[in-house]
Amino acid sequence: MTTIPAPLRQRLTEGFGAPLERSWHATGGSINQAAAIEVGGERFFLKWNRDAPRGFFAAEVHGLQTLRAADAIRVPDTLEWEDQDGDCPAWLLMELIETPAARVDRQAFGRQLGEQLAALHQSVSPGDTFGLDRDNFIGALPQANPSATSWVAFLRDHRIGAQLDLARERGALRPDAIAQVERLMARLPDLLPDDDTPALLHGDLWSGNYMIGPGGAPVLIDPAVYRGHREIELAFTELFGGFPASMYEAYEAVWPLDPGYPERRLLYQVYPLLVHVNLFGGSYVKELKRAVAPYI
Ligand code: ADP
Repeated sequence: MTTIPAPLRQRLTEGFGAPLERSWHATGGSINQAAAIEVGGERFFLKWNRDAPRGFFAAEVHGLQTLRAADAIRVPDTLEWEDQDGDCPAWLLMELIETPAARVDRQAFGRQLGEQLAALHQSVSPGDTFGLDRDNFIGALPQANPSATSWVAFLRDHRIGAQLDLARERGALRPDAIAQVERLMARLPDLLPDDDTPALLHGDLWSGNYMIGPGGAPVLIDPAVYRGHREIELAFTELFGGFPASMYEAYEAVWPLDPGYPERRLLYQVYPLLVHVNLFGGSYVKELKRAVAPYI
């Protein structure tokens, strides 16, 4: 059995009215611990965290439910969740996504993901602004989502600026790097075209946050949802790679990108790189500086 903390196991046993029969370790989580579990012959996916801020899993549930409501890409159903309570860590119980046993055609999978991602991005209503109806988290870091009509102001203040403030507080960046990011922030109105079209974003779309689900269909997990400019999401997918080329082709077939996007790709990687500097430090500082340099 995977070592699910005893107080959590007890909490689940009470909740289910039956003991856990089996559990398996999941891999890949950088923030939480996770396991697949089996109770009463049914399988579930369980995440837990001893250091989660209050409302951490509630924010993840809200994000998953927001994506689900868009009805564009499958996400796991969320079942139960609680904040940390004494010895019992914060936890979230959700639907287990079973990965197919048979080999999956990656290019076909990519095409489906591209089409569905474009549909997700298009799931906004007239009058929607940037932001979301609640704040949430990216990894373990706070992500504010106030309503804004200007993308430049939203990106500057609530994405790049907020993470830069955190880096300053934590001493994660030296003054020269801080000054470079500040210069970039001041130049944003010149660097970005006047395009205030919001898109519904997963918000943390690196290759660890999609799964190949039943039937080889895409499933998104672990989001940091908000309405932002879609180019920041695509740039995020390109930061560490791991997405099939067919995804981009299929995306563009549904909703072509502006021809100027490649010039902004690095700029849009600054926010996720700042998040990585704040979460993991070290090597990401160099990458951050490399992303900022062409624009200042
Ligand atoms: P973290 O919040 O720690 O980053 P994730 O939500 O990304 O954790 O999950 C870690 C790993 O567990 C994923 O890479 C994926 O392989 C697996 N996983 C996540 N959610 C599910 C699920 N609902 N069903 C099955 N496996 C899952």
